[in-house]
Amino acid sequence: MKKVYFKTFGCRTNQFDTQIMISRLKDFEYTDDEAQSDIIVVNSCTVTNGADSSVRNYINAIGRKYPDTKVILAGCGSHSKGESLFGEEKVFGVMGHSEKEKVNDLLHQTNRFYEIGDLSHIDSTVVREFVGKSRAFIKIQEGCDFRCSYCIIPSVRGDARSHSEETILSQIQKLAANGFGEFILTGTNVGSYGREKDTSIAKLLKKISLVRGVRRIRIGSLEPIQIDDEFKELLTEPWMAKHLHIALQHSSDRMLEIMNRRNRVGNDLPLFEELAAKGYALGTDYIVGHPGESETVWKEALENFRRFPLTHIHAFSYSKRDNTPSALMGEQIRGDIAQQRHAEITQIIAEKNLEFRRSNNKGLEVLLESGKGGIYQGYDQYFNRISVSSNEDLIHNWVQIDQVEVEKDGNKAIL
Ligand code: SF4
Repeated sequence: MKKVYFKTFGCRTNQFDTQIMISRLKDFEYTDDEAQSDIIVVNSCTVTNGADSSVRNYINAIGRKYPDTKVILAGCGSHSKGESLFGEEKVFGVMGHSEKEKVNDLLHQTNRFYEIGDLSHIDSTVVREFVGKSRAFIKIQEGCDFRCSYCIIPSVRGDARSHSEETILSQIQKLAANGFGEFILTGTNVGSYGREKDTSIAKLLKKISLVRGVRRIRIGSLEPIQIDDEFKELLTEPWMAKHLHIALQHSSDRMLEIMNRRNRVGNDLPLFEELAAKGYALGTDYIVGHPGESETVWKEALENFRRFPLTHIHAFSYSKRDNTPSALMGEQIRGDIAQQRHAEITQIIAEKNLEFRRSNNKGLEVLLESGKGGIYQGYDQYFNRISVSSNEDLIHNWVQIDQVEVEKDGNKAIL
């Protein structure tokens, strides 16, 4: 049987897509050893120009190292760079997102192929990824209808479309019956779930919570405008993880406008305050160094930023992506300035997180996911990492921790 190796670049969605492809292999053997493989599927990322170069460099390197190995390009890069890599004969075949469930047939092809497919397809496999034996990621939707100026995703992953409720629920039922207690809902733009099916993320959450065995539900990421009254009604439910990740991307209205974002500070700040008042830990994505982020804009942004009751952050320094409106904008920001701004906001959040952990150091519900030698790691309901020392084997267990020691680099407890 021929062996197939998958090289995955990019985000969690791509990792899911690799799992779909692996689950569809019938006549081939999966290997995690690149050197042993007869075929390499490159599940590529195209989010920045840098990501494109990494994929191209990898393809060039394996071409030199294993000249007899067939290389197939899949993933987002197949939609942006597939044509050129195919034309230059750097890859044997190209398969677009909609073709990944046909991977077994495509790998049989003896002639070079270019199957780019379409961007409206939704996979019939709801992907599950498991952390240990108790936490499962469930992809509930694909694509995005937003058009943020810096983002290439809509043109390589298509508009938002959702998996069917029945498929999602039956998947969760099976997993919950097998001992999974925590579910993390993911997708490209999770909060747009159900928009085209006359339902919503809030309705889906309610139904998931009724599945026997479901103990905690997390949502990968939401957009501020997706937190409507229907969603807010769920905030006091015991199964809601007390942490929400809400993508702000910036805290200056001028920048949000340039970025073609749908949120504005005047609505975001009261929303965050409302959620924080309900006891939620709040995380966000934030881009620094996007074109247009002048000294004056940054000063105002930073002032606003300090007012947000945030506890977690994924900060990114802007990186140019060709074929996006941002790539054509003037006023590029120097890399060292972006880095400095990145460090500034990261530091602010580290302090806020410490403060939050100090005032939320009791009654923590923790799912221990990893560890050995008597020290286990997991996350509490606020998505703060905790390290637990115990003589008992606690791996994959839920533990209630009455009091933790709050240290700068994380929470610690002895059980
Ligand atoms: S919300 Fe904006 S940044 Fe996120 S995937 Fe959609 S277009 Fe890209």
